[in-house]
Amino acid sequence: MGTRDCKHITASSSPSIGEAGRTGDWRVKHPEINNDICTPAKTGKPSCFICWSFCPDAVMTKTVPLTIDLEYCKGCGICAQECPTGAITMVDDDRGFSHTC
Ligand code: SF4
Ligand code: SF4
Repeated sequence: MGTRDCKHITASSSPSIGEAGRTGDWRVKHPEINNDICTPAKTGKPSCFICWSFCPDAVMTKTVPLTIDLEYCKGCGICAQECPTGAITMVDDDRGFSHTC
């Protein structure tokens, strides 16, 4: 429950960086952005930012180009799923736990 910068109570909470702490070494994958495809980087204009609006950990910046704070990114992959241009790829994290046998 939160207010999202208005006086009305809403049903969803507002994310904040570090609310659940640094990610540590348990993450399996992390996102990488292809700036040749990402709309703001490609056009040089502040546009799209769909990934930014969906990230539950608020670790993406609304900048040109946008950046991701991997200290806090949980590797959920929502940004990659929601990106309309396919600019985000989830790649294997080389820290800690490995899921290969
Ligand atoms: S949703 Fe995709 S195209 Fe849009 S800003 Fe994010 S990475 Fe770039
Ligand atoms: S993988 Fe999840 S936590 Fe990391 S930047 Fe994408 S949406 Fe945010």
